[in-house]
Amino acid sequence: MKRREALLGSAIVAGLAAGDSFAASGKRLGGAIIPPEKEMGIEKHVPIITAPASAKAGEPFTITVEVGKTVPHPNTLEHHIKWIQLYAQYEGSQYVIELGTFNFGPTVAHPKVTMPVMLQSNATIYALEHCNIHGLWDNSVEIKVS
Ligand code: FE
Repeated sequence: MKRREALLGSAIVAGLAAGDSFAASGKRLGGAIIPPEKEMGIEKHVPIITAPASAKAGEPFTITVEVGKTVPHPNTLEHHIKWIQLYAQYEGSQYVIELGTFNFGPTVAHPKVTMPVMLQSNATIYALEHCNIHGLWDNSVEIKVS
């Protein structure tokens, strides 16, 4: 069931058209599967993206995504962060490119990833994370590329 929800979330991202309102930071994806946010703790779930505001075309830079950066998310067998996914969408493009998927082992792995990325033009970076109890959460940042 959770995997199905995860795939649903990815499909939503992949199906976005340019200009759609996916970048509503701090919201969960999936419509009807979303319980009230105040019951779940936004600060424990929204993936925090650390990335430069600008970059040079074709030159690698690093993006870091962490869940529970300010308020730690539980990390037990019963309740933990399952994975983080990163996507990029170039400005004006209808396509969303998967940058990476990172799976975590409960109680041992801390849900934080850093990866090198190189962009060719202005882009939006999307981060998704999946809590095994509270489902999908997203965040995004825009990066100017010159
Ligand atoms: Fe949770």
